[in-house]
Amino acid sequence: MFKQKINKLLIGTNNKGKLREIKSLLPKKIKIYSTLKFNLKSPVENGKTFKENSLIKSKYFSKKTGLICLADDSGLEIDILDKNPGIYSSRWGGRDANFSKAIKKVYKELNKKNKNWKNKKIKARFICALSISFLSKKVACVLGKVEGRISHEPRGKNGFGYDPIFIPLNKKKTFGEMSKSDKYRIDHRFMAFKKIKKFF
Ligand code: IMP
Repeated sequence: MFKQKINKLLIGTNNKGKLREIKSLLPKKIKIYSTLKFNLKSPVENGKTFKENSLIKSKYFSKKTGLICLADDSGLEIDILDKNPGIYSSRWGGRDANFSKAIKKVYKELNKKNKNWKNKKIKARFICALSISFLSKKVACVLGKVEGRISHEPRGKNGFGYDPIFIPLNKKKTFGEMSKSDKYRIDHRFMAFKKIKKFF
């Protein structure tokens, strides 16, 4: 399937932060469509893994539009919290996907787990599953990761989601303090994208 390069693509996300980053990864010659323009609501994500949820989205949006769809499912795993919020990362923000609420919940859960957590290195990673589907057929599905730790307090106003509390390995700044281009070069989405870029 798809011996030729894809030249028309729907990005299956209603998250503006993800849309911006995915657009910046794709070659400029590809005609990009967004689910926001089609006014499509997201499907129920009832998969058990990032890959399953990513495929639910790419298949759903492709069937709704007839376009080849690239979808992302991603989130933050914190080891000491049994890998939560994980696939529930967006749900920790509540119905209105409020990122500051999600960040407060992370600190609340860390405090519940261990009052002394600030004296420890809280290992975490961002994970991203990217999938490409055409109608109900999977074309590709890959995973990318970036390892790091949780900062003692939120820092920086760039990016979205949990960016202000995540410090990638061997760096001092949080993703929220980094410029877009610095974050995009090392993050989970870029790592996943490297594995499917042959399609574009
Ligand atoms: P979903 O994949 O749409 O279910 O949601 C993923 C959630 O994980 C987002 O709403 C963010 O809270 C979080 N997330 C995923 N990728 C990133 C990132 O690059 N930076 C910060 N938060 C992220």
